[in-house]
Amino acid sequence: MVGGGDVDSIEHWVGGRRTPGTSGRVAPVFDPALGVQTKTVALASAAETDDVVRCAVDAASRWQQSPLGRRTDTLFRLRELIVAHREELAALVSQEHGKVVTDAAGEVARGLECVEFACGVPQMLKGSHSSEVSTGVDVHTVLHPVGVVAGITPFNFPVMVPLWMMANALACGNAFILKPSEKDPSPSMLLAELVQEAGFPDGVFNVLHGDVEAVDALLGHPGVDAVSFVGSTPVARHVYETGTRNGKRVQALGGAKNHMVVMPDADVDAAADAAVSAAYGSAGERCMAISVVVAVGSVADPLVEAISSRIGDVVVGPGNDPASMMGPLVTAEHRDRVTSYVHGAAEEGARVVVDGSSQSWSQGFFTGCSLIDEVKPGMRLYDDEIFGPVLGVVRMPTFDDAVALVNANPYGNGVALFTRDGGTARRFEREITVGMVGINVPIPVPVAFYSFGGWKASLFGDSPIYGPEGVRFYTRPKVVTSRWPEPTESAIDLGFPSTR
Ligand code: NAD
Repeated sequence: MVGGGDVDSIEHWVGGRRTPGTSGRVAPVFDPALGVQTKTVALASAAETDDVVRCAVDAASRWQQSPLGRRTDTLFRLRELIVAHREELAALVSQEHGKVVTDAAGEVARGLECVEFACGVPQMLKGSHSSEVSTGVDVHTVLHPVGVVAGITPFNFPVMVPLWMMANALACGNAFILKPSEKDPSPSMLLAELVQEAGFPDGVFNVLHGDVEAVDALLGHPGVDAVSFVGSTPVARHVYETGTRNGKRVQALGGAKNHMVVMPDADVDAAADAAVSAAYGSAGERCMAISVVVAVGSVADPLVEAISSRIGDVVVGPGNDPASMMGPLVTAEHRDRVTSYVHGAAEEGARVVVDGSSQSWSQGFFTGCSLIDEVKPGMRLYDDEIFGPVLGVVRMPTFDDAVALVNANPYGNGVALFTRDGGTARRFEREITVGMVGINVPIPVPVAFYSFGGWKASLFGDSPIYGPEGVRFYTRPKVVTSRWPEPTESAIDLGFPSTR
């Protein structure tokens, strides 16, 4: 933590305007490609969190009364504004996260899809009606907004993950408090400006910057009705347990260890291209990145050879250089943690095929792509989520062994199978205990009209995020049973009705 100095400072966004922090606490924000601090971000206290929640509670009470047509008009305008500012958003993401600009543009595009889905929310909020369930009695359901939603988001998708949450939350009539990652907070401020320009009322969308103090204050605040969290598994577990203990609805998406199973009949070149793209894209800092290739039987040697021969083609450099294919890691600490797995690989009994950590860089938090063969469960390399450009290869004799390996892993976010056999693919799809499955697709992130969610330690709570499940999470059903009897039809009856 550092003082403000002469770098830009990032404030909160409360009630429709920038609001300076008053806690006196700030965190540094870096340009990872240069390795220098460029900004500070305010870190909210519990008292500031309370102010934001009160503002959101007030705004929610009015926003939920707004006609559906007005909400969707506003969402359509937000969609247009995001399209108009997509390059600016992508550039900001790249500056603070480090990912290459084209990849950042892809993240904006995937977030935009969630806004487009939310533009059609009237279809999702229709409820249901049953006429004459008993004589003169009708029943209908109404989907109410839950109230105030807090969204706590990770550093690796500073535009897409907030949009996963806020588009549906706002469309359903809730107020939203975004607590973005303190590592790359600027894109959320541009999103706030676009939300404002689109015409959402003041206080319906707020940005509260902070760390554990702000998160815990949100989790304990009686004004927060629901919490959407995306981040690492230990924090997801904490958020889920604390939020639900305090009576809130919580969905908490955690970390991952995603396997790509390659069968002996697979096209080795296609599988190697997919493995390199999915392991090293965004420097491995994707929750759906492939971090383990499971090579089944005879495919192992040619596949390791094909992957290692491609690694030299990956151009590592600053995110704003059009030639770069992979940028730096987000912080120096994270880079050092990631490279420690490569340095310790041989001692753990694995074989370093390509050592990207040995490359040196004059500036920035860079490391190259690493490939480690003969990785096994029980090694840190296998057991931990590394979240960097380190791809491990586990060799397995049979398909059944590969499925057993994946199913024994505590995480269950994404998984992929590469094969040319439909029967194997069908068995895999049915037997694997993972929430999102790709068949010859290495990163099976569902489109916005499906929902995103892993199993096991990758998702706490029972609600995946965005799409139809997002609408369900951000609404509370009310069932209305009604009758309009003539005055002469009323009578006292203390029993449950036994006839229809
Ligand atoms: P993180 O868990 O460190 O931080 C996520 C959020 O929680 C941030 O807003 C942070 O400020 C806050 N936070 C951090 N420590 C906290 C604590 N002790 N108490 C309360 N709040 C705390 O995650 P990250 O490093 O920003 O993001 C990377 C992680 O997110 C990886 O594990 C990745 O797999 C995961 N992720 C998962 C998904 C998914 O959909 N499952 C998507 C993206 C990222």
